Amino acid sequence: MICGSMFSGKTEELIRRLKRVKIANLKAEIFKPSVDVRYDEVKIVSHDENRIQSTPIDNSQTILLLAQDVDVVGIDEAQFFDNEIANVCETLACRGMRVIVAGLDMDYTGKPFGQMPNLLAIADYITKLHAICVVCGNIANVSYRKVATGGQVLLGEKDIYEPRCRVCAALKS
Ligand code: ZN
Repeated sequence: MICGSMFSGKTEELIRRLKRVKIANLKAEIFKPSVDVRYDEVKIVSHDENRIQSTPIDNSQTILLLAQDVDVVGIDEAQFFDNEIANVCETLACRGMRVIVAGLDMDYTGKPFGQMPNLLAIADYITKLHAICVVCGNIANVSYRKVATGGQVLLGEKDIYEPRCRVCAALKS
């Protein structure tokens, strides 16, 4: 698991690990939820424009069908997947595959996001990344939403979100 707030470098870290998989001549398949089309339909792209080919899917169980004969499965934006995603990852791991999952651990209110808590509970290794608070410069763990609209899922970038530490996120301004 690679978790953390927005702008913490999760996708960048996922891409770095998957490139090393390729160097090792292992076969990898990468999936992302089809809801996440902020940058590219069929690639995962980090904020610094690093990119790698991926397959957008609607249903997490589709991964079980598509990830055949691969050594490594990469999954990005795991917080947007349905309730079966943790079971899917467990099944892949039981098939002997290495499963590398990246996602937002908390939503913009600081609450656990989607199935991320269940994924983190069954993960063998967890890397938690941090952004830098734009207000005070400390370590940021909250994806602070600058606009007062929308539900838990509001796709956006620096136009809508900024990284803040827990103290500055509570300032509400
Ligand atoms: Zn701060």
